[in-house]
Amino acid sequence: MSTTATDTPKQKSHDKSATHALTDGFHLIIDALKLNGINTIYGVPGIPITDFGRLAQAEGMRVISFRHEQHAGNAAAIAGYLTQKPGICLTVSAPGFLNGLTALANATTNCFPMILISGSSEREIVDLQQGDYEEMDQLAVSRPHCKAAFRVLHAQDIGIGVARAIRAACSGRPGGVYLDLPAKLFGQVMDAEAGRRSLVKVVDPAPRQLPAPDAVARALDVLRGARRPLIILGKGAAYARADEDIRALVEKSGIPYLPMSMAKGLLPDDHPLSAGAARSLALKESDVVMMIGARLNWLLSHGRGKTWGTEPKKFIQIDIDPEEMDSNVGIAAPLVGDIASCVSALLDGMDGNWAAPPAEWTGAIREKVETNVAKMAPKLRNNNIPMDFHAALGALRTIVKERPDAILVNEGANTLDFARSIIDMYQPRKRLDVGTWGVMGIGMGFAVAAAIETGKPVLAVEGDSAFGFSGMEIETICRYNLPVCVVVFNNNGIYRGTDVNPSGGRDVATTVFVKDSRYDKMMEAFGGVGVYATTPDELTRAVNEAMDSGKPTLINAVIDENAGTESGRIGNLNPQSAVSKK
Ligand code: ADP
Ligand code: MG
Repeated sequence: MSTTATDTPKQKSHDKSATHALTDGFHLIIDALKLNGINTIYGVPGIPITDFGRLAQAEGMRVISFRHEQHAGNAAAIAGYLTQKPGICLTVSAPGFLNGLTALANATTNCFPMILISGSSEREIVDLQQGDYEEMDQLAVSRPHCKAAFRVLHAQDIGIGVARAIRAACSGRPGGVYLDLPAKLFGQVMDAEAGRRSLVKVVDPAPRQLPAPDAVARALDVLRGARRPLIILGKGAAYARADEDIRALVEKSGIPYLPMSMAKGLLPDDHPLSAGAARSLALKESDVVMMIGARLNWLLSHGRGKTWGTEPKKFIQIDIDPEEMDSNVGIAAPLVGDIASCVSALLDGMDGNWAAPPAEWTGAIREKVETNVAKMAPKLRNNNIPMDFHAALGALRTIVKERPDAILVNEGANTLDFARSIIDMYQPRKRLDVGTWGVMGIGMGFAVAAAIETGKPVLAVEGDSAFGFSGMEIETICRYNLPVCVVVFNNNGIYRGTDVNPSGGRDVATTVFVKDSRYDKMMEAFGGVGVYATTPDELTRAVNEAMDSGKPTLINAVIDENAGTESGRIGNLNPQSAVSKK
């Protein structure tokens, strides 16, 4: 059932010499993507899409092959976030598709535009369940996990199928789309000119959605009545690329703001109105909270409970999805529209004599920020051997400050929680992390796409456990010679490396790894640079060298195996048995 180049006609859509030029499914899909400005594919080759990848490369597309579909999918997802164009992931049928589906579901949850294109087995056989090679009803399986799912059966429908997938991924709340392409479609032949005419260039894939004027006025009224207002910036705000207007809104209003993890750097973290280091105080004491592209989900304690204090609050929420309103608490002023339009409408509505919030409030936040920053400073400079998280991150913090255009990828438990609060960001969309699900395994996929899409150096700060989920992709990083520096925070295990088997049996505890593993040697195996670092100075030197040279590098940073805590800062989500058996 494999489809090879010999099954397909030699004529290409561009071949004008033949009287009856023909094209086929392969070329129509490639032409449809290119027509819509999509020039990169992340995937894993195999039946039935091996030749598709070859032909796409032959037609000038960048086709990046991974070792596992989940990482190709994560790369596509973050490419979508970074470019506002759907990232493309290409997989084989059934198992490859399922591997990619994890990333598609994660993209949908995070509102990243992405299209998972999978080859699939023949409908006639799949639907009669006659046991085809990699048989699976992929379209049905995909539906609950993505924003939209389409299947194309005829070559003349490829143009429309790709257009629908692009529009579904980008418009409104962005998300993941599944495009099912059965093996037979690729080899279907049609007249080249008719094929060309069947393609669709999507006009305005993410149309602006203007907020209603009365909703803008209502939001401004609520804001005017605030005594202790707070703005929360989410990754939707970072995605929207309304950077200058968002900064103007914060500065003109004089309202302190709190960036969610991936919104860090939308305004520099050392901005005088940043409440980042006074998060608890800001959430608890505020009386009016305006959310811009952030959701009141678990990451914000659902907008209630002791995190939010006892006084009733009023929420203003800017979001493109009307159903997001009232999802967790009542929203006093819903502002539905695209963030750029909403923020610019708010700016227009703030007249010249807009009063800044009371100095008592902004002063209290500032003071708390300064106290917390001062408290943290000596911890970041400690020289304990082995290093703790603070010492290692203190070193990386300085490097990111000196290289603000580098992209930081970050995952782990403690490695994530500490890095998020310790490493300041200075530019928008430079911090890529575990997102809405707090998922492990995004690391190397995100790092590859960040390097490919932006051409900037990438620093991936990884817990040793988190790294393991995608670690084999360092071969991909070396193969494409990408400017990625991976730092593995090696504390010998999940959360920490000191747990013991409670039964006293022969197996090690469930959360510990081989002691003193040398992840740096893995990188050397593929021709990259491996470094073993035990002090903040060694770490600093190695990262700077990697960033200057652009050579694929992995630094095994030895971290005290006692240093971590269970599940980092979300240990409360771990159910624990109340029954202890004697
Ligand atoms: P965070 O985790 O940073 O709080 P979320 O991913 O939870 O961010 O929330 C992002 C929100 O931004 C989603 O509710 C999404 O609908 C919204 N969003 C994404 N892009 C836009 C846009 N261009 N305009 C308006 N809202 C957007
Ligand atoms: Mg660990």
